[in-house]
Amino acid sequence: MRKSIQITIDPQTYADKKQLEKIISKKADIDSKYLSYIINKESLDARKNPVYHLDVMVSSNNDLPSIDPEPFLNVSNSMEVIVVGAGPCGLMAALKLIQKGLKPIIIERGSEVENRKKDVANIVRNEPINEESNFCFGEGGAGTFSDGKLYTRSNKKGNVDEVLRLLVYFGAEKEILYQSHPHIGTDVLSRVVKNIREEITKCGGEYLFDTKVENFILRDNEVIGVTTSEGEVIMASKVILATGHSAADIYQLFYDNNWLIEMKPFAMGVRVEHPQELINEIQYHNKDYSSLLPPAEYSLAANYNDRGVFSFCMCPGGIVVPTPEKEGIMVVNGMSNSSRSGKFANSAVVVSVNEKDAEEFSEFGALALLKLQQKWEKQMYFDRRICPSQRLDDFIKGKVSSVLADSSFKPGLVSANMEERLPNFVTENLKAGFTEFNRKMKGFITKEANIIGLESRTSSPVRIPRDKNTMQHPQLKNLYPCGEGAGYAGGITSSAIDGINAANKIATELGV
Ligand SMILES: Cc1cc2nc3c(=O)[nH]c(=O)nc-3n(C[C@H](O)[C@H](O)[C@H](O)COP(=O)(O)OP(=O)(O)OC[C@H]3O[C@@H](n4cnc5c(N)ncnc54)[C@H](O)[C@@H]3O)c2cc1C
Repeated sequence: MRKSIQITIDPQTYADKKQLEKIISKKADIDSKYLSYIINKESLDARKNPVYHLDVMVSSNNDLPSIDPEPFLNVSNSMEVIVVGAGPCGLMAALKLIQKGLKPIIIERGSEVENRKKDVANIVRNEPINEESNFCFGEGGAGTFSDGKLYTRSNKKGNVDEVLRLLVYFGAEKEILYQSHPHIGTDVLSRVVKNIREEITKCGGEYLFDTKVENFILRDNEVIGVTTSEGEVIMASKVILATGHSAADIYQLFYDNNWLIEMKPFAMGVRVEHPQELINEIQYHNKDYSSLLPPAEYSLAANYNDRGVFSFCMCPGGIVVPTPEKEGIMVVNGMSNSSRSGKFANSAVVVSVNEKDAEEFSEFGALALLKLQQKWEKQMYFDRRICPSQRLDDFIKGKVSSVLADSSFKPGLVSANMEERLPNFVTENLKAGFTEFNRKMKGFITKEANIIGLESRTSSPVRIPRDKNTMQHPQLKNLYPCGEGAGYAGGITSSAIDGINAANKIATELGV
């Protein structure tokens, strides 16, 4: 018989598996010899003396539910569906298609993860960027070289669980199934992505790497295939478009053909980087829990002049990386390994950007916010991957830093007046936001922190609309715009869920 129990324990007990099992067995009133259990939910409360709250399902006769996914079928001779983009959205869509008996043909402009690792290493070494294989493009999408945070605001638990279970099946740690803030880390993510490829190809699905989709083939207003950069014409009755939000050429394709797209508000700002120890001290109240607790996180938000300013995509123990997909622009982001053992804590701190801010680009219609994003990415450019930066205390005072704080940013930082490289409203809101954050987390504004720019790829500045029921583009039948690039998701987990939903829709429509 299964039952659910709740326990609250200190970090020492949490770290000692034997002790933890003893407590579970006592609370469940089951002899430890017969005890089996799974943790359903775990959260760390560090507001006072840190404690873990656990929600545990226990059983005395080993009848706990399986976490294995729906079986993957042999689809070698099945009906084909094109999936454009091998990011979290495209890959999860492809897996679901296989579970439904459909054959995915995955077309990816970038390289396989093994080769992509070299391209990414070149960027960090300040060598030329491969414009088709980098932090944004290539197998696994923008999520591969990331922190791999998996929490999402999506509250459809069943959907979130399905994604997490698939990730575990393909090599992620089981802990992600119950942690309140699960994360994978780039070392594990690249392995997971490779394992997914092996399963997809074993089942008869196909990948075309280093192949960019350049256009759609239409019959009347129906998409019946795509053309690629390799001169191929690939036909299929359904096309999932999961190209992510850095594929500006896809938005341009829609714009040039007068296919419906819309502006979508996004957010822009900087990455702030502190020593991790300092964040631990603030969050864990100066007590030394370093050997027992994970590197501390934070999540902060404020409002100034009717605009939101908020921390986003925080990477404890991570590094700041340059993520432009081409020369002449500067964009940054954060990533980490599963251990999150680095010396620094970084987070985006960004300000909401809306249609009104892009009036100077109104002639570009639905692309106006994209043009605004591109303008400020160019403005942040200095020299290859050397990145403009300012100490946080100096930024608040409006003073150029004579010395920058230590940083994880490998290509190198150059001291700059960040106000000149950011829109005025972003500067004003960042200053107000940081000041408020410092009230909530005393010591946040410090000479030990730098701001590094530009953080602009927070979400898509364009939406490719779709019908709520069919998930198809209103003008282009059989085209399923999905994931972050279509403006229907933000982050790894929600993009993956969106891909699964699209594949389910297609299966229903095709009657399989
Ligand atoms: C450094 C970094 C760290 C991040 N950290 C996190 C994090 O910790 N947690 C989190 O939730 N999110 C994080 N994100 C964001 C997350 O990666 C994205 O939200 C997510 O990957 C979006 O998934 P997607 O499949 O919709 O698009 P993408 O992951 O962008 O994938 C799109 C794919 O389509 C391909 N493509 C584009 N155009 C074409 C074309 N014309 N033809 C063929 N292929 C094409 C691209 O090469 C790419 O592989 C991070 C992003 C970056 C860059």
